[in-house]
Amino acid sequence: MYTGPGGLARRHEAGGSLELGHILNDQPRIVIVGAGPCGLGCARELEGLGHKNWHLVERAPHAGGLASSVTDPQGFTWDHGGHVVFSHFGEFDRLLDEVMGDDVHRHERSSYIRFDDRWVPYPFQNNLRYLPNEVAYECMLGLIEAPGGDPTTDFATWMRATFGDGITKHFMEPYNFKVWATPADRMQSMWIGERVAVIDYKRALKGLISQEDDVAWGPNNTFVFPAMGGTGEIYRRLALKLEENISYNRLVVSVDAPTKTLRFEDGSEEDYDILISTMPIDLLVGVVQSAPDPLREAAKDLEHNGVYMVGIGYEAPFKDDMSWSYYPQDTTPFYRSTNFAKYSPSNVPDSDTTRYSAYMTETSHSGYKPTSREGLEEDVEAGLRAAGVVEGRPEVASMHLEDIPYAYPVPTIKRDAALSTIHPWLMERGIYSRGRFGSWRYEMGNMDHAVKMGVDIARRVVKGAPEELWSLPNE
Ligand SMILES: Cc1cc2nc3c(=O)[nH]c(=O)nc-3n(C[C@H](O)[C@H](O)[C@H](O)COP(=O)(O)OP(=O)(O)OC[C@H]3O[C@@H](n4cnc5c(N)ncnc54)[C@H](O)[C@@H]3O)c2cc1C
Repeated sequence: MYTGPGGLARRHEAGGSLELGHILNDQPRIVIVGAGPCGLGCARELEGLGHKNWHLVERAPHAGGLASSVTDPQGFTWDHGGHVVFSHFGEFDRLLDEVMGDDVHRHERSSYIRFDDRWVPYPFQNNLRYLPNEVAYECMLGLIEAPGGDPTTDFATWMRATFGDGITKHFMEPYNFKVWATPADRMQSMWIGERVAVIDYKRALKGLISQEDDVAWGPNNTFVFPAMGGTGEIYRRLALKLEENISYNRLVVSVDAPTKTLRFEDGSEEDYDILISTMPIDLLVGVVQSAPDPLREAAKDLEHNGVYMVGIGYEAPFKDDMSWSYYPQDTTPFYRSTNFAKYSPSNVPDSDTTRYSAYMTETSHSGYKPTSREGLEEDVEAGLRAAGVVEGRPEVASMHLEDIPYAYPVPTIKRDAALSTIHPWLMERGIYSRGRFGSWRYEMGNMDHAVKMGVDIARRVVKGAPEELWSLPNE
């Protein structure tokens, strides 16, 4: 039996619920599922609004969700894939400031693409002069001939129309398949916004002729990173401030929408008036008992990939070169590697970067791109050496793998219709699905977006304020 804030007992008995303690000081009972950035951002905002009648339930034994970190037995700290902190929202800035203060390092991005035997500064399409002559020519010609992309077309068509044949063949197509693990013609291209640098041929030509680097593109060209504890430190600290109303190891296995009751894996139950869910929305539909067939069918149209994060710790001094790099070619299993000791020395044992270095890699998988987990750590380690990220054959001090089954919500062509079916049905029943996989909108899939969605939904349910970030697709 859960005893909620204010000590009011809440329980269910066979055959029906006892509505004990449902309303506290006239405040509706808000239950939040998930202690990731969105759920915690929501909880913090509810507190700020003076709404005390909330409870956050989390399946894991800790907070942070996809943005949590783990320290392995050898003393290396890893994130769930390369996370950098940058923000579009004052709400996220204030939260970061409140919980981290000066305990952050500030970085300028130094990012490259591995192409054959060389490093090309990111973005690839802005720095063609680093490519072998014949490839640079092919890319330049393609850009000049490209008619220009129409964002209402599928991603494969958009890429070719925007960048032409050369850049598409040498970078865009192979790289995007390595990340998304989804054929580009299944994807829409409306999400590209800040995520893909679009360049016209005049700018590319200028770079080629003037031999100048063009590396400042994008919102993450400067970023911060926690001085200790990895990205997860932000949410560990935030959760500590809210811990009285957070319950861990609480896996939601069923939602009874008519009676507004949650059931947990251990058989216990809990009532809500308003449910804010940050679990993947396809799984949410799966546990809502009364979800009609069209909702279940729509949920099947939502596609995602998974990622294996493999971290390799070396007994070799850290190199102060790249922050992270991209790998479009199949010479490595991973699509990205991160120089994790550069983000913070505390990511290696005893913060001793004269002795240790650490590389975090991401390798995607899906039905379209099966990736064997067997031997992946060894393949990744060999890939880091083959790409020249690591020189020589330094002693491997640690190999750590995290399996992230829900990593990227894929913006497929069918996604928006599916979401437009699912969300309204849920909201009519007081269920709000928000966050990276709760909204299933990659274009609002970063930590700052997740926090902002959490803040906005708190304001909506308490004050009736319109949400500023989340909306139905095409609204
Ligand atoms: C490889 C990778 C790289 C990324 N890089 C960046 C980056 O550089 N910068 C950036 O800002 N963001 C990045 N992100 C995105 C960032 O991780 C997410 O934006 C953020 O974690 C989303 O927060 P959320 O609260 O919406 O969801 P989540 O973090 O997924 O949290 C959801 C929570 O719900 C819990 N839950 C799920 N099901 C249940 C259930 N049935 N019962 C109870 N609890 C449940 C989960 O355990 C989890 O804790 C990256 C993500 C990935 C995967």
